[in-house]
Amino acid sequence: MKFENSLSFARQLDKKDSLKKYRKQFLIPKHKGKPCIYFTGNSLGLQPIKAKKIILEELKDWEKLAVEGHLQSKRPWLYYHKFSKKALAKITGSFPEEVVAMNQLTVNLHLMMVSFYRPTAQRYKILIEAGAFSSDQYAVESQVKWHRYNPDSAIIEVKPRPGEFTLRQEDILEEIKSHGDELALILFSGVQYFTGQLFDFKSITEAGHKAGAYVGFDLAHAIGNVPLNLHEDQVDFAVWCGYKYLNSGPGAVAGAFVHKRHHQSSLPRFAGWWGHYEKERFQMKKGFVPMPGADGWQLSNFPVLNGAAQLTSLDLFMEAGTSVLRKKSELLTAYLFYLLKEADPSEHSYKIITPSDSAQRGCQLSIMVWRNGKKAFKKISEAGIVADWRESQNPNNPSGVIRVAPVPLYNTFEDVFRFSETLKNSL
Ligand SMILES: *Cc1c(COP(=O)(O)O)cnc(C)c1O
Repeated sequence: MKFENSLSFARQLDKKDSLKKYRKQFLIPKHKGKPCIYFTGNSLGLQPIKAKKIILEELKDWEKLAVEGHLQSKRPWLYYHKFSKKALAKITGSFPEEVVAMNQLTVNLHLMMVSFYRPTAQRYKILIEAGAFSSDQYAVESQVKWHRYNPDSAIIEVKPRPGEFTLRQEDILEEIKSHGDELALILFSGVQYFTGQLFDFKSITEAGHKAGAYVGFDLAHAIGNVPLNLHEDQVDFAVWCGYKYLNSGPGAVAGAFVHKRHHQSSLPRFAGWWGHYEKERFQMKKGFVPMPGADGWQLSNFPVLNGAAQLTSLDLFMEAGTSVLRKKSELLTAYLFYLLKEADPSEHSYKIITPSDSAQRGCQLSIMVWRNGKKAFKKISEAGIVADWRESQNPNNPSGVIRVAPVPLYNTFEDVFRFSETLKNSL
């Protein structure tokens, strides 16, 4: 599409947007009486209007039924983890029995590593992208130590080339190949939280399997953001959180994927009663018998109140359709990319470090501001734009990064236009 740098053009795009009605399904915080421009759906997605209603229903059932609510409430609490399965399967490109909503992201990452990080003296290394989200780094480091290996030698970080900010696909594959017979596990982000780079699940998984390693993905910034085909791509496991693009509320229930081919295997795991064979769960017998599928990795009973909110958000994803959402998302972010390039074609003030190719990114753009970025960010915030500021990870470098994530469910082309104008005027 040929874009134009004008408010009227942005508004035209909004007018033609077949998803525009979904904005009304969310509660948008106000700034000086007007809805703010909310670009941090990658951090905490907005509240769906229906979240309050469904949570109140559960509170009412708790009030009226108390313990009987496990079976007699409108959505029996005992089976709550099942209610999100179909949607989560659709969003992740999996079979329903391959996914389960449970726990929190980092907890699930540990649980998956219990099963899929089985180091031996020859094969004990974990390959991960450099600069991974802190929690993932800590999880990996502590798992390595738990198995009595040294993180310095056991963790291999794939780094961008000097002067580059994102990883080249060929470099990732080359690293996998060169460490092949030492690798126990490859753990990658689906979409990198800092740079917004979307990785190629299929080829990374293929290369990992060829090397003899398991391959898992952290989908924190990918789920609800980019198309996923976990089953077809042969990914061994994946984990995600519910509060970012899935709009399920602060601290919401997270989830995990375990590929079908592992469902009958004797992979070791940490067990709890909610993962036990359902028909016998309440017999309280000795001897753990896992539920078939991803459900067998559950530990505890389901967090109903926050899981309820997730259901309302998943309904919106299903109604809107994941491929339609992606189509708008690509256009929205491409428009933002175009406007930012128009405003600073020679990269005098900033550089977009997220890949320029739509196929290699989700909705987020990460803008590295060379100088006075924090000041500019403050001005942007004062103008009613909610974005995210990250200090440079290099102490000798005065630049920082503004991350913005226009999401297709509730952001508009006008939001994008206004942001770009505000950034221009703030620098
Ligand atoms: C947001 C995020 C987390 C947060 O972990 P929680 O366990 O949900 O607190 C972890 N890893 C990545 C990659 C994230 O983006």
